[in-house]
Amino acid sequence: MKVMRKIIEIDEEKCDGCGQCVPACAEGAITVQDGKARLVAERYCDGLGACLGECPRDAIRIVEREAEDFDEEAVEAYLEEQEKHQPAAAACCPSQQVAVFEPGARFPSAEASGGDSALSHWPVQIHLVPPTAPFLKGADLLVTADCVPVAYGAFHRDFVQGKVVLMGCPKFDDVPAYLQKFTDIFKQAGIRSVTILSMEVPCCSALPGIVKKAMAAAGKNIPVEEVLIGRRGAILDRVQSAA
Ligand code: SF4
Ligand code: SF4
Repeated sequence: MKVMRKIIEIDEEKCDGCGQCVPACAEGAITVQDGKARLVAERYCDGLGACLGECPRDAIRIVEREAEDFDEEAVEAYLEEQEKHQPAAAACCPSQQVAVFEPGARFPSAEASGGDSALSHWPVQIHLVPPTAPFLKGADLLVTADCVPVAYGAFHRDFVQGKVVLMGCPKFDDVPAYLQKFTDIFKQAGIRSVTILSMEVPCCSALPGIVKKAMAAAGKNIPVEEVLIGRRGAILDRVQSAA
């Protein structure tokens, strides 16, 4: 039955699909599909807006409109059903869940893989890291093109130690979304320095420009080091700019 009532509205333009609103909704009324938060069903949203404060993009608001009435029994049945099908029906991809690793904590397979991982946090994909992630606060940022860790053999030893890694591809990913994400990070996180690793191929040359443009948009002047990696793994160029 439709009634006039309060219900959430998600602004698709602002939403970057980070998924932080998903666990905030006790009713399980929000899911992330195709990179955007979506309301699963009107009757699952109680209209109280517990998710509002969790959204780093200010993409959720409460509106008053005609919608299916909130149905507590339907919510209970839905949550039970979800539980049965975990993890297959997990509302958001586990790769989005923010984590900080203990310094020096080694995962058993690191031995078997031939080297220790220097990674201190998760996630690493630019799109998946919320600007509010705790590991970004005061960080030395390492922004790397997707192909660099494959081409450069000693990636962890030479670049990851002590840094927060964000990776992506300036050719295939959504560049305006990157610009916005980096601008938000530079505005909010108090980043101390940035190292940018890109490949020698022309398609990769946009990466330093994206980072510097975002820094300018955020009104920050942070020390930057740009490192150019060759396809056979050599360091071809290294340029530093002081703040
Ligand atoms: S928290 Fe905000 S930006 Fe993130 S998925 Fe939810 S609505 Fe989108
Ligand atoms: S732009 Fe090209 S080289 Fe750079 S990460 Fe993407 S595919 Fe790799």
